[in-house]
Order: sequence, then structure tokens, then C-alpha cells
Amino acid sequence: MTRNQVLFDRACQTIPGGVNSPVRAFRSVGGTPRFITRAKGPYVWDADNVRYIDYVGSWGPAILGHAHPVVVQTVRDAAVNGLSFGAPTEAEIEIAEVIASRLPSVEKVRLVSSGTEATMTAIRLARGFTGRNKIIKFEGCYHGHADSLLVKAGSGLLTFGNPTSAGVPEAFVQNTLVLDFNDLAAVREAFAQQGEDIACVIIEPIAGNMNLIKPAAGFLEGLRELCTQYGALLIFDEVMTGFRVGPQGVQGLSGVTPDLTTLAKVIGGGMPVGAFGGRADVMNAIAPLGGVYQAGTLSGNPVAVAAGLATLKLLAEPGFYEHLEQQARKLTEGLTERAHAAAIPFCADAVGGMFGLYFTKQIPTSFAEVSAADTERFKQFFHAMLNQGIYFAPSAFEAGFVSAAHDDAVIEATLDAAEIVFAKLR
Ligand SMILES: *Cc1c(COP(=O)(O)O)cnc(C)c1O
Repeated sequence: MTRNQVLFDRACQTIPGGVNSPVRAFRSVGGTPRFITRAKGPYVWDADNVRYIDYVGSWGPAILGHAHPVVVQTVRDAAVNGLSFGAPTEAEIEIAEVIASRLPSVEKVRLVSSGTEATMTAIRLARGFTGRNKIIKFEGCYHGHADSLLVKAGSGLLTFGNPTSAGVPEAFVQNTLVLDFNDLAAVREAFAQQGEDIACVIIEPIAGNMNLIKPAAGFLEGLRELCTQYGALLIFDEVMTGFRVGPQGVQGLSGVTPDLTTLAKVIGGGMPVGAFGGRADVMNAIAPLGGVYQAGTLSGNPVAVAAGLATLKLLAEPGFYEHLEQQARKLTEGLTERAHAAAIPFCADAVGGMFGLYFTKQIPTSFAEVSAADTERFKQFFHAMLNQGIYFAPSAFEAGFVSAAHDDAVIEATLDAAEIVFAKLR
């Protein structure tokens, strides 16, 4: 028995499903999850000391590659000075200033410890600020696991085929209107019927929890116009895309300015940091200035903030994102070429350091199209690549990530493995 299997069996005794976050369990692809012992640059090593080229990157945070020496040293230095104070620190001001200076839509920002907390609070804030209850979200977009957002969400829910979580009361989701991504007419219709009751529209402006789906031309612009017209807030959930697709997230790429933005993943550099920020008048409605309550014992934790700040500083190097996208494109174009050479219907897309792989003939633009992908073939591809030492996300509905440490040799090694794998899948 492999050590991974021994550990998994043991984990299942005391941890539900053996994991602390569902997709890690390999349920949708089958097989034994790899227990990771260490990581460096583009690589992770499992409990059997097998090395993998990693395209999960801790689900997004590891944009510099794992264990970047500057980030690790900064974390060590911070830890020596104490792990948590429950009182404000100068580093929190610094990271807030960095976020506000890089994202033009953010005037004020509050730190939390996860993406879930950020989106949950942004929704509460939108409701408190507007005095309205209803929210619009899109099918296949995942915004963390707060009750009102766990309706037809992506990521793990999509992977396991549950439209909505058990344990979420009907009353909680009655105020959540779920529409189709890229269907602006449906949004217009919803506002025409209940615009006075809609507090906000929340969206992954490039969706990364139903594989990768880009917004159609005019879609984000249309959402902006409708929200402005009806006095609703537009929330960009950039937990995944923030500082990942470009220096200003999707708001920078699209030129569309949200009222609120949620962040996590990259801004923690591998440590638990989330944030929500936006218009000062809206943010001032949060306690202690306003009546919308939010708090956190470990919010702005000094060690976590140190990791985030060190990461954000390194991302500011000129040409960082151009290089990242170039590497992602070498990967997606190389994979597409090799799949087609083996006559396998496949396509791929990338933006910044984020990519999507689809076992479809055309790049999907909607939830329906992405759901039609050949998940059986994905499973075979996933396991065959894993056997070749390439670690992709264990689900057909998750975006992948390259880091700055994925150099040409790493991409080439991946493509060589894919050539062998696609030939077998044929
Ligand atoms: C990961 C993710 C979340 C949830 O963040 P957690 O830190 O896992 O709670 C929310 N929204 C999006 C878009 C995400 O990708």
C-alpha cells in the first residue's frame, strides 16, 4: 500500500471524507488523494516522495511558485514578533494601501481571513447599505459557502452534482435569484420585475469555479448599467481573479468598475487572508462606523498579512503578468496542439496566470456548454497525467493556475507528458 493510501485511510477515521475541503477528496475523479509533504517553486511532493508539476497552486494563492524565499523569510521574521495580537498593526495599513492603490475601485478595504467571509460580508453590506433583500448571482459561480450564496454554485457543489447544499433553509435562498452567466437579457428582465428589491449583483467577472468562462462582450458593462440604473450594488468577486489575471484583476482588464470587490487567495500569499473593499460611502456602513456588523479574532493576522504583503510587492515587478500569461498560453496552446494531433476534441483558454481545459469542440461561454464537457475523458486525462507526475485540479470544473516558477522547461515537460497521455486516450 502506498503511504498516500495509508494516510488517507487514517484520515477517514477522524476527518469526514478524510479531507478538510471536499474537492481534495478526489471523489469526482476517483483514486487516492495525494498527501503533500512539501512544495517548492512549481513542484509539490507527496507522502511517497513522488514529485509533481503543480497546476493547482493551492487553488490560486501560489502565484510566485511555492515557498518563495522572500515570502518565507518575511513570514519567519513576522512570526518571531508574535503570532497574533487582536490589536491593529502597521502592516495592515500597508496592505490596505497597496490594495487601494492598485485597484481604482477600492477606496476603503477591510481584511478578513477567507474568501467566504469576504463575500458573505459584502452581501450583508450591500443589503444593509441599500435596505433591500434580494441578490442576483449566476449559475456555476462560486462565492464561498455562506448560506445565501450556496445556490447553484460552482466548484465542489458542481463537482459533486448538488445544485444546493443541504442545511440551507428555503427562506435563506428565497432572496437569491440565480440567472445564467452571460445572459444579460435575463438580468434586465429580473431588474424590470423586481429592481426595487435587488440589493446587489454578485459575479465572478471571469468565472473560475465552473472551469474558466469569460464574460461575453458587453455583459459586465450591461450589469454595471443596470445596477446603476436601479440603485443596486455591483460586486465583483475577485477572490480568484484578483492579482491573478492582471495587476488590477478583471476590473482592470474590462474597464468596468464595481462598487465592491472581494479578494482572498493571492492576497494572502498562501496564508489565510481575505478582504472586501470599494466605495468609501458603502464601506463606511460597516461597524464601527456604520450599522452593518462584521468582526474577526484573527482578521489582519500579522503573520498572514506579512505573507500577503511580501507577495503583492513581488507582483509589482514590471512584466510580471505578461510573463505569466505567456507561460499559461504556452501550456494551453501546447496541450491543444497535442490533443488535436491525437484527434481528441479539446480546447483551452488562458488569461493571466489562470487557465481552462475543456474536453469540448469549442471554448464554452455558458454554464450549459461547460456542463456538456466529456467528464469521463477528463477523468482519464487527470489520472494519466498524475501518473506522469503532473498534478491538475481533480475536477473538470475548476480553473488551473500557472505560477512565475513555471518556466519553459516545466511547461515542456508537461507537454511531453501530455503527448503520451493523449495518444493513450485516443
Ligand atoms: C475560492 C473562492 C471563494 C471562497 O474563498 P475561501 O477562501 O475558500 O473561503 C469565493 N469566491 C471565489 C470566486 C473563489 O474562487
